[in-house]
Formats: sequence, C-alpha cells, structure tokens
Amino acid sequence: TSRDRKRSNDTESLKNVKNIIAVASAKGGVGKSTVTATLASEFASKGYKVGVLDTDLFGPSLATLYNQHDVKIYQKGEMMIPFESNGMKFMSFGYLIGDSPAIMRGPMVSGYITQILTQVDWGELDYLFIDMPPGTGDIQLTISQTIKLDGAVIVTTRSSLSLVDVVKGILMFEKVEIPILGVVENMSHFVCDSCDKEHHIFGEQRGDLSERFGIETLAHIPIEATRAVPFDKYKTNDLNSELANNLVRQLGAITSKAITPPQ
Ligand code: ADP
Repeated sequence: TSRDRKRSNDTESLKNVKNIIAVASAKGGVGKSTVTATLASEFASKGYKVGVLDTDLFGPSLATLYNQHDVKIYQKGEMMIPFESNGMKFMSFGYLIGDSPAIMRGPMVSGYITQILTQVDWGELDYLFIDMPPGTGDIQLTISQTIKLDGAVIVTTRSSLSLVDVVKGILMFEKVEIPILGVVENMSHFVCDSCDKEHHIFGEQRGDLSERFGIETLAHIPIEATRAVPFDKYKTNDLNSELANNLVRQLGAITSKAITPPQ
C-alpha cells in the first residue's frame, strides 16, 4: 500500500493521522481552498476527525474561509499546537505570518514548509487535508517529498487551458508516485435560480478526463454564491456528500486501505 513507500510519516506530528490528502491546482483562483474547506467540513460533518493544513505561504486563506480572527498558535517544545474550532484542527501560514505578505527566498520557503509539515502536533485524525500552494513547481515537490501523501485531488475550472493544467498536475504527482484520487471541476456551470436551468457558460461538460487520463471526476461544482460562505457555518448538501463519498471510494480503490466509518 502507499504506507510502504519510502517517505514515512512516523514523525510525532503525523503518526496518528490515518489519511493525508493533498488538494492541488496548477493555478490560483480556481477554488482550491474552497474545495479543501468543502471536503474538510463535509468529512467533519460525517463525524470523522479532520484537520486542515494551509501550506500556501503567499496567499493563506484558511482564516478567511473559516471566519477565524487573531488565532494564536502555542508551542509545546518543538511542536506547534493546531488551532481547534468547530470540532476540527487547523494550521495555516496565515496564523504565523498574519496579513503581511511573505517575501522569501527559496531556501527560506522550503524551511518553513518543512517546519509546518513536520512540527504540528495533529494528534489523532482520520483525515488531514492539505491545501497546497497553487502551481506545480519546487514547493509542491518539497511537500510531496517531505511527507507521505495518500492521494491528491486536483481542482480545475472548465476551459482548454485548465485541461493543460490538469495534465501538469497529473505529471507532477506521477513523478513523486502519489496516486491521484480525482479531479474536481469547479465553477463548471451556473444554475439559474428563476428557471433552474443549468447554464454551461464555459462550454458543455466534456467528461473526457477519465477516458483520456484514466482519472475520475469527483464532482462538477456549479458557480454558487453560497459556495463562498464562511465554512464555520457549513451545512452538508447532496453534491458535497457525493464528492466526499467519491473521494472515499477512490481512496479505498487506490490504497486498498480499510476506511473505518466514525462511531
Ligand atoms: P484558490 O484557492 O484556487 O486560489 P479560492 O478557493 O480562494 O481559490 O476561490 C477563489 C474565489 O472564488 C473565492 O472568492 C471563492 O469564494 C470563489 N469561489 C470558489 N469556488 C466557487 C464556486 N463554486 N462558486 C462561487 N464562488 C466560488
């Protein structure tokens, strides 16, 4: 299974975390953080123990998404204690650097990334969702090589350009042997509230990702004003539940791990 690969999560930080899922996108602004928050809140609402790690040094958005203010992070020895709220655990570069933009050189970036990956005391978790920085470069590779990710979800929007982006994401994760659990197509269409008609403003669904790359589409998420809700007020819905179920199914198929449903 994926647990046998050479990267190990036997560090204090991650040894009691059952599943680590990266949420990635080749570009910013496609809804990667929104999808991470959706997955995290959906799994938490199903009763799983969930953590969210925001590794986006240059645009951390976890605090905004969850309506968190003035979060203080405490340390126990070398380890940082994640912020707990709404029954979930959170860690973000935003908590550490505040609103000031991060201006850093490469080596500093990888130092900080390694620290936030290995020095957070997550305790026991069923799922840790990692909001990756946008892109398919060095930072993303550092993350994939520092800890053992069980799988990755790629977020994209509908256009031929973002299909190219999906391919970039696929190639990156293949290079580091991380299974891709599927693609989430965000802002795929718009549902008119007065006529309920689905408007495919970026073109009809082609549904060909699985044929072309052998990769599942986990969900087509419409453009919806309510998608931008603060996630501390999250309520489940059919689409989000289906997204989570598809993810669990893919995870089971790819890693052949037994997923124990929460009590
Ligand atoms: P990324 O993490 O890829 O940069 P975000 O998750 O921050 O993207 O989303 C970018 C913006 O688009 C945010 O303002 C977010 O609220 C909004 N957004 C994301 N997905 C949707 C959606 N399906 N419907 C409406 N707004 C969305």
